[in-house]
Amino acid sequence: MDLFLSPGELAFRDDVAMFIADNLPPDIRQRMEQAAHLEAEDVTIWHKILHAKGWAVTNWPLEWGGTDWSPVQRYIFKERLQAAPAPEPLSYNVNMIGPVLIAFGTPAQKQKFLPAIAALDHWWCQGFSEPNAGSDLASLKTIARRDGDDYVVNGQKIWTSQAQFADWMFCLVRTDTQARKQRGISFLLIDMKTPGVTVRRIKSLDNSFYLTEVFLDDVRVPAAQLVGNENEGWSIAKFLLGNERSGIARIGLTRGRLARARRVATSMQEAGFPLINNQKFRERLLAAEVELRALELTQLRAVTGPKDSADMVAISSILKLKGTELQQLAAELLQEAAGPWSQSFEVCGNGDLDDRDWLPGVEATYFFARAASIYGGSNEIQRNIISKSILGL
Ligand SMILES: Cc1cc2nc3c(=O)[nH]c(=O)nc-3n(C[C@H](O)[C@H](O)[C@H](O)COP(=O)(O)OP(=O)(O)OC[C@H]3O[C@@H](n4cnc5c(N)ncnc54)[C@H](O)[C@@H]3O)c2cc1C
Repeated sequence: MDLFLSPGELAFRDDVAMFIADNLPPDIRQRMEQAAHLEAEDVTIWHKILHAKGWAVTNWPLEWGGTDWSPVQRYIFKERLQAAPAPEPLSYNVNMIGPVLIAFGTPAQKQKFLPAIAALDHWWCQGFSEPNAGSDLASLKTIARRDGDDYVVNGQKIWTSQAQFADWMFCLVRTDTQARKQRGISFLLIDMKTPGVTVRRIKSLDNSFYLTEVFLDDVRVPAAQLVGNENEGWSIAKFLLGNERSGIARIGLTRGRLARARRVATSMQEAGFPLINNQKFRERLLAAEVELRALELTQLRAVTGPKDSADMVAISSILKLKGTELQQLAAELLQEAAGPWSQSFEVCGNGDLDDRDWLPGVEATYFFARAASIYGGSNEIQRNIISKSILGL
């Protein structure tokens, strides 16, 4: 990346790296290195450290606690966090509901919610997907019926990430069953403590409970918690998903995984030789490193280009598609480099990490990386978008 950054941007990158090195609690860094997921407490502690520095909501306007950083600075900031590795500011709050309320919320909603979203006093989750509405999200069936000053919500959400930690959920609901499916959807904010909300955890292949289902039974939601107009939630959902996809390439994360794969392949022996001596492995590793550089250029083009052009819609899909493919490839190379040492979920080591201490996290990382081509809109759907917007098919 150095070639493409100005001296000022390089100095900024050093400042960010130094702040992370000086302030990231070592035990949180260690858990980041070892495991795929953190507990809410770790995420919150680090988010609040960033918030105190004024760096939690760097993408928001100054008026709401954001920064006047350039898009490149924002990119550098994220890249350094991922490479550290440090947790990123909580995405549901910072990249999803915050920007939605800034763009579509009433003044009262902004005053009420934005400060707690920025400080992570409230943890939010995303209630979009349902058992029969994922890729075809507009088929969602959770119903909200108006009753006086409230909506009464009934239905089920699924794959709701980390809802067990959440204080609030932003939720797509059907408010008109007669209209064309995209037209009858509204965007509601639901307090997770409201009677009738039940969260059930789902265990996944990586042995974690990152995912949940959320059941909504006669949940009364004040109409003041509707964002935008009734039946106009689809355009808000599209705005939010656009933001979600463009942040999903996670180049710093892949860079860290590839660097680690290279280190392990160099230090650990296979049949008496380091794996890096194996030509096939070396070629795959090099190809991944080259592709990552190319993706980074696309990412920099995306962050500096005009946001609402047709090209940008396709670029955000390309970043999602290629970024997640590389995340998976890097996890695979890391797993290969770690060999039998990766075959355990048990996390060990309490002091300084040496290369073996984090190996148990490798397998969980590999399995969770499989999900990257599904969440945020599956990669097949991204291919459809790219074929339509670039190739005109
Ligand atoms: C780890 C993880 C976290 C998630 N977190 C959240 C969350 O916090 N909140 C939330 O609301 N949702 C979340 N999701 C859900 C996610 O958005 C959906 O899984 C995703 O949109 C796909 O929907 P689906 O699972 O219903 O699969 P389906 O839509 O049923 O798709 C099944 C398969 O068919 C393919 N397919 C479907 N339609 C087409 C088409 N038109 N053309 C070509 N292929 C197609 C898909 O690519 C996929 O391979 C999460 C998912 C995962 C895995």
